[in-house]
Amino acid sequence: MQLLPRSIALALNSLPRPHRIMLGSLTALTLAMAISKPFVYHNDDDGYHQKPIAKQILLDAQQVRSLLPEASEPLDDSDSPPAADIPKDELDDKTENEKGVHEYVVSTGDTLSSILNQYGIDMSDISALATSNSDLRNLKIGQQLSWTVNDDGDLQRLTWEKSRRETVTFDRSGNGFKASTEMLKGEWQDQVLKGTVGGSFVGSAKEAGLSNAEIGAVVKALQWQMDFKKLRKGDQFSVLMSREMLDGKSQQSELAGVHMRSGGKDYYAIRAEDGKFYDRSGSGLARGFLRFPTLRQYRVSSNFNPRRLNPVTGRIAPHRGVDFAVPIGTPVLAVGDGEVIVAKNGGAAGNYVALRQGRQYMTRYMHLSRVLVKPGQKVKRGQRIGLSGNTGRSTGPHLHFEVWINNVAVNPLTAKLPRSEGLSGKDLKDYLSTVREVMPQLKL
Ligand SMILES: [Zn+2]
Repeated sequence: MQLLPRSIALALNSLPRPHRIMLGSLTALTLAMAISKPFVYHNDDDGYHQKPIAKQILLDAQQVRSLLPEASEPLDDSDSPPAADIPKDELDDKTENEKGVHEYVVSTGDTLSSILNQYGIDMSDISALATSNSDLRNLKIGQQLSWTVNDDGDLQRLTWEKSRRETVTFDRSGNGFKASTEMLKGEWQDQVLKGTVGGSFVGSAKEAGLSNAEIGAVVKALQWQMDFKKLRKGDQFSVLMSREMLDGKSQQSELAGVHMRSGGKDYYAIRAEDGKFYDRSGSGLARGFLRFPTLRQYRVSSNFNPRRLNPVTGRIAPHRGVDFAVPIGTPVLAVGDGEVIVAKNGGAAGNYVALRQGRQYMTRYMHLSRVLVKPGQKVKRGQRIGLSGNTGRSTGPHLHFEVWINNVAVNPLTAKLPRSEGLSGKDLKDYLSTVREVMPQLKL
């Protein structure tokens, strides 16, 4: 059976291009099934029967054609690099994670597998983690997870901040993970840092004593309320950090609240027990996202799969978005309020639009027949940004839609997207008492 992959490759090369594309979309299993018939019936020892086999594949390919995801990109199309067209600014350095490092704050309804799954982590790794420490099955709201993957997307390490004092680290060891626990001994202190914007916010915040990570936290907390690029000289800020001090040095810190006064207006973001930020009255800061970039929901013709294996080349050819089989000319909608960062025609992505929402979110819409927005333009949730099409490298009319969180492509169908809900009940009561404690400290 060693010949199998080789005969597949031979067969593929003998096909005209459209068929190669079609076949490329087949899974290895389907391919094996397609050629299993000739293997069974041509029980000959001489090598001459390779040719009839190839012919047989061609016929089978025609037959299964109707089962193929006709509306997608060719499988051998390695996606354009994520940031190729995306403009960067100084704030990106502060809010971006290191390559391969992901962070997540546990929120309502999350489980270890729902969190890691949306980032494309292998299910076998998720269950290996849960096996090595069954407490991982009971994540608590507000706990922080961070993890590292290698270039193939394989999980290498998971860090679980169970509480401020206790951190458990899981390191890959063979097929499983080895856990180690660290208890921190430092003293937590509240510190208020104030400043006035001079040249840039980043420069002024550094001058006020904030670290890079702390500046990133401030930018993320206020991302839905204000545009940091619009800050002017003389604008003021006050930040309350909770820092763990050991031997007079800050080990780690947590943003408790921030107050920004820009152009005479006051903006607040204060941290609740759940690790998220709300305004003074406990309202959510982000306006919710739409799950689908179209008015109604269309059939998925190809799923998100960051670890998709090309059965022919054996290489990983990630599919960083989800494909919807959408008729040409269907209005494509912005899934959230944001700014157009790319609106261009041509290339492998065809006519495409990329939006930035807040600082951490980016959505991309590809293969459009028409682009209806311009770079720099502000858009509202639900606004038409283009019409769907079949441009660029595409095997049929479809909309390729991507969601990126902190520069990592996530599954648009399952990703935790910003919601607009605020706090209620006991959570709100607790939050409002935190606000009464924090507000006076943030006075400018
Ligand atoms: Zn696609």
